[in-house]
Amino acid sequence: MEKWIIMGVVGLLGLVIGSFLNVLILRLPQGQSILFPSSHCPGCKEPLKWYHNIPLLSWLFLKGKCSYCKEPISAQYPVIEALTALIFVSVFYKNGINLHSLAVALSFSLLLALSLIDLRYKAVPDSINLLAALIALYASPDIAGNLKNALLVAGAMSMLRFFVSYYVSKKEELRLKKQIAQAPWLQDYYPKYVMIEAMGEGDIIVGFTIGAILGLEATFVAIFLAALLALPASIINKTLHGDKELPFIPFLAAGAFLSYFFARDILEWIGVS
Ligand SMILES: [Zn+2]
Repeated sequence: MEKWIIMGVVGLLGLVIGSFLNVLILRLPQGQSILFPSSHCPGCKEPLKWYHNIPLLSWLFLKGKCSYCKEPISAQYPVIEALTALIFVSVFYKNGINLHSLAVALSFSLLLALSLIDLRYKAVPDSINLLAALIALYASPDIAGNLKNALLVAGAMSMLRFFVSYYVSKKEELRLKKQIAQAPWLQDYYPKYVMIEAMGEGDIIVGFTIGAILGLEATFVAIFLAALLALPASIINKTLHGDKELPFIPFLAAGAFLSYFFARDILEWIGVS
């Protein structure tokens, strides 16, 4: 019985954090202060009353519309709040009521915010990313071990990025050279050196965070799951939008969250451990 009351409190904490994440997602990429001005309707700029600001419930009572101008309020708000509460309850349920659970839940929540920002802007603010990385180091009592795993994953991802970028750049350089060989006048218009960066820098910081929380084995599972989730999404994205670039952080974050709970089962299932 007592445990369920504590879980309820944890869930409420998740809702409050989720409500704050909504502010981060909305304001940080636009360079606005996250503290001032206080919450207002993005449509009519009318400041919100306290009872307009209750996570989840307000959106339901207002039926998803601003109480002043009746402008629709994005469903993203209650969805982020509910997902953050889910993250908090499931992490504390698995890992027990302690400060390490809080660190893991906060890191995953910040990864959720980063995912939303990446989906919308295809770039993420370092502030949230680095904060998640620092908090993740406290994911378990073995902080030195967490740091080692974090550095190994971030290092491996950096090297991978160098190799893939080199390959992609050389391929593009060859393509341009072939065109120039056929039409030498193009030379004046083409760059001498090609430098294409294959992976976002933000992905490497996310790798650090995931390594710290999961350890090496479960990180491999996380990256595998991320690729598995990204594959159909990238095919749909290509056919629907012809847009080749797909933000990867949402998939990394989802893969990491699933791996946190199911890596053991997945590894056992494929017979690795
Ligand atoms: Zn309004």
